[in-house]
Amino acid sequence: MLIKIKKSAQSSDIQLIRQLLDQHNLGHRVINGQDMVIGVEANPSEEVAREIHSLNGVESATPIATPFKLASLAAKPEKTVIRAGGVEIGGNSVILMAGPCAIESKEQLEDVALGLKGTGVSVLRASAYKPRTSPYSFQGMGEEGLKLHSEAKKQHGLLIETEVMDVRDVALVASHVDIVRIGARNMQNFDLLKEVGKCGKPVILKRGMSATIEEWLMSAEYIIAHGNPDVILCERGIRTFENATRSTLDLSSIPVLKRLTHLPVIVDPSHAAGRKDLIPALAAAAVAAGADGLLIEVHANPKKAKCDGKQALLPHEWADLVGQLRKVAQAVGRSI
Ligand code: PEP
Ligand code: MN
Repeated sequence: MLIKIKKSAQSSDIQLIRQLLDQHNLGHRVINGQDMVIGVEANPSEEVAREIHSLNGVESATPIATPFKLASLAAKPEKTVIRAGGVEIGGNSVILMAGPCAIESKEQLEDVALGLKGTGVSVLRASAYKPRTSPYSFQGMGEEGLKLHSEAKKQHGLLIETEVMDVRDVALVASHVDIVRIGARNMQNFDLLKEVGKCGKPVILKRGMSATIEEWLMSAEYIIAHGNPDVILCERGIRTFENATRSTLDLSSIPVLKRLTHLPVIVDPSHAAGRKDLIPALAAAAVAAGADGLLIEVHANPKKAKCDGKQALLPHEWADLVGQLRKVAQAVGRSI
């Protein structure tokens, strides 16, 4: 249940509501967003619901069947449109986010940004902190990389997004980029989710590689419940028995999510496929299935890339792909 508190409510009114919830063993949390609400873990009995309704400070009390409340369509039937810079994510336009896996040097970012020019890209993706399977692999440039990313933003008029892996880096990362990304491996790092809930920037929340859609939405709920309603869900493939691809892109999650949540959904076909030849088909399918955006790896010199070169498109391949995607978007009533 979500209990909306009246604007005129006093702290004593809120205390009474909380006391009643405690009496009935109903776990809950006060959320201080634009409208103050109390998120209640479970739905109370009809009798208790009536009691809650009758309390002074209560404006409305909406029972919600799913464990995620604020992220649910039941709580908010209209789509969330997230504004970052001049870009709207979750509106009619399919938003393109592209760039290298990792920030490697000033020249590398410069080359890729020039290659993306004029292709309809709104957001330059690139990571300064890399979650690598091997401790001996390139771990990212850290703060120095963030500075290069900020420079590229100024130079090329693109928004920028990057991954944050550590609670201690959230404020620093958020001070540099327009959109903060939580990677698949940290989808259930709850302390990190709480921290980005307070960071004041939109958050791309990638699906954990073995997370169910409900678990994923519960992670989104953490971010929203900690003060940040601007969550963008990113499908990036899940682990299955199939090994022809790095992960299996779960395209069905797009229409499933559209029935469960008001949050925008984007798709990363690069990390799903792990190989660049499949990216056009997967990206087109994602747009056809209703994705609000794409996150795709592009590198001006993939053979020299410090990570994920095999799944990076060359800028001219990217430009060709955008041409194809425009047609698909148009066919489903969207624009790019
Ligand atoms: C990434 O987008 O840079 C990345 C590491 O992807 P994922 O977290 O989906 O593996
Ligand atoms: Mn990568």
